[in-house]
Amino acid sequence: MRILVTGGAGYIGSHAARYLSRAGHDVWVYDNLVYGHRQAVPPGRLIVADLHDAAQIQDALTRHQIEAVMHFAAFAAVGESVEHPDRYYQNNVVNTLKLLDAMRSADVKKIVFSSTTATYGVPKRIPIDENELQLPINPYGFSKLVVERALHDYAKAYGFAFAALRYFNAAGASPDGDLGEDHTPETHLIPVVLQVALGQREKVWIYGNDYPTPDGTCIRDYVHVDDLADAHLKALQKLETGQGICLNLGTGRGCSVQAVIDACRKVTGHPIPTEIAVRRPGDPPELVADATRARDVLGWSPKYTDMESIVRTAWRWHQQHPQGYATS
Ligand code: UDP
Repeated sequence: MRILVTGGAGYIGSHAARYLSRAGHDVWVYDNLVYGHRQAVPPGRLIVADLHDAAQIQDALTRHQIEAVMHFAAFAAVGESVEHPDRYYQNNVVNTLKLLDAMRSADVKKIVFSSTTATYGVPKRIPIDENELQLPINPYGFSKLVVERALHDYAKAYGFAFAALRYFNAAGASPDGDLGEDHTPETHLIPVVLQVALGQREKVWIYGNDYPTPDGTCIRDYVHVDDLADAHLKALQKLETGQGICLNLGTGRGCSVQAVIDACRKVTGHPIPTEIAVRRPGDPPELVADATRARDVLGWSPKYTDMESIVRTAWRWHQQHPQGYATS
């Protein structure tokens, strides 16, 4: 298929774009490069443009005779969304509606959408399945939930076929070390810990050790970025006109902040000093996926099932790219 990947120069989008093209699809990346990296996209495959420009989206869709869209482009920092909700509603909601309407005009009705565990807010039950109430506690989560809602309505009214994939914590890097995680500023746990191992930071601040969890630190479900890419490919094959599927993507295994740091110590051989800091606002104590539906519907199961193997891929990337994509 001819596929447009919005945000395909970003962390998850670039891995998915490569995965799709290796599976034989004709992939075009649409990215404004505000957070994305030109080096993460194969030469000749990047359209540098913004989603607020409906004419450019439509031009990309028609020029390349696109048949399906994978929509990764979005702002994704919870704290920033609380401080600047305008940016989140504008970029994640308004610009996505522009994309959907450009798709309608170009008669492209297949879309796989990057949703998030943040749409659940503070879940009542762990592990979280898709029947959990979606009650987001921050603008980021709300912005993604609004789009999920719009997709349901567009499917019903206009015959869209969609999958909304609710990621848990994306982690790791491509095993060959070519693609990886490069955010500025970096706030995510694994890259932060590995920057300490590289000597770029003095220590890791652990945001709270008084949570109601066995070691007192927050538990998350870390899922390898190539496993996410694989789920996108499988979801694309399951799209049905007028219908949508919403699926959790996680391993079903929780790992505490402390356990992540221990895995990084083992993989890197570095002592990784830590210090306890106050809790980070908006952090639920535990988020672990029940991904049974993704397994049943897509036949998907993550290949990376333990923290050390995920960290090993991230470590290779960080060693080869100590300054991220700017290294080369
Ligand atoms: N975390 C931490 N120190 C850091 C970065 C993150 O203790 O320097 C914790 C954070 O509070 C959360 C977990 O690590 O419990 C995962 O955070 P991350 O930002 O990687 O992902 P999130 O769960 O926010 O999507």
